[in-house]
Amino acid sequence: MKKILIYILCLVLLCFLIPILFTKKNTLKQAISLEEESKDIIEPYDYGKYNKIKLLHTATGEVEALDLDTYLLGVVSGEMPANFEEEALKAQSLVARTYTIYKITNGSKHENADICDDSNCCQAWISKEDRFSRWNEEERESNWSKIENAVNSTKGKIIVYEGKPINAFFHSNSGGSTDTATAVWGGSNYPYLQSVQTSGEDSYSQYSSEVTLSKEEFVSKIKEYHSDFNIDFKADNQIEILEYTEGDRIKTIKIGNLNLSGVEVRTIFKLKSAKFQINIEENNIKFNVIGYGHGVGMSQTGADSMAKQGKNYEEIVKHYYTGVEIIDMM
Ligand SMILES: [Zn+2]
Repeated sequence: MKKILIYILCLVLLCFLIPILFTKKNTLKQAISLEEESKDIIEPYDYGKYNKIKLLHTATGEVEALDLDTYLLGVVSGEMPANFEEEALKAQSLVARTYTIYKITNGSKHENADICDDSNCCQAWISKEDRFSRWNEEERESNWSKIENAVNSTKGKIIVYEGKPINAFFHSNSGGSTDTATAVWGGSNYPYLQSVQTSGEDSYSQYSSEVTLSKEEFVSKIKEYHSDFNIDFKADNQIEILEYTEGDRIKTIKIGNLNLSGVEVRTIFKLKSAKFQINIEENNIKFNVIGYGHGVGMSQTGADSMAKQGKNYEEIVKHYYTGVEIIDMM
């Protein structure tokens, strides 16, 4: 009788224990995999981790550690006119924060610093003192508080695509349409950098510009890059646009015996963009250029134009970066 009782007791215990053991094991497994997943997702966006960034001052070579958002005040005030709409300044803050974190997480170009203050290399940055010296006295405080508000109201937020910070390229004026990174620089594209259109950019001074050179200057400038260059201005079809990008920039142009990319022509003649017309005049070559900058990602004047049309910073950012989300890292 005792034996039977012990058997029953054991069976009952087993019945309880087995599910408990299995559940525990599964819960533990779940906890581990959740921890692993969250490590993957959360670690790169730990705001505390990027609290201090190392900024290289290119003029002096000095590296300064700054709070991320303090640094961003200098970026936004260096990159975008303070008289732009508040929502455009917020979009710029979000883009600059994302760009900074992308640079840090994807490897800096600089050995001892996360980022530098040169807009041709990383992104522009200006100290508050230098910024103030370039503003009229009566507008200093109001301009600065506008920029502080833009950075603070987007505090902790960055732009992500499939959970990762995006390479948030931006430029001054798209001339009405942006381009993919591939169209401008070749190589593989980022899915969030597509060609998009914006209205109203033609009302900004950055929209159009001209460059005129004598035919001799034109030839010698190209020869600096291609010593084998030759052109016969008397012959037909010596300058011919062969291909445009989706965003209406020049992809390939035939000049004399060369086929050049629009980006290279932009570099050779220091044009504001690769969206240009080229005219042969009697003695000169004249470029009529539309837009300012490479044309990839957010257009700053486009952002301001959208803000004037009533769009908020999230709508602006999502217009320029296809399929992205804005997340809070705090
Ligand atoms: Zn740099």
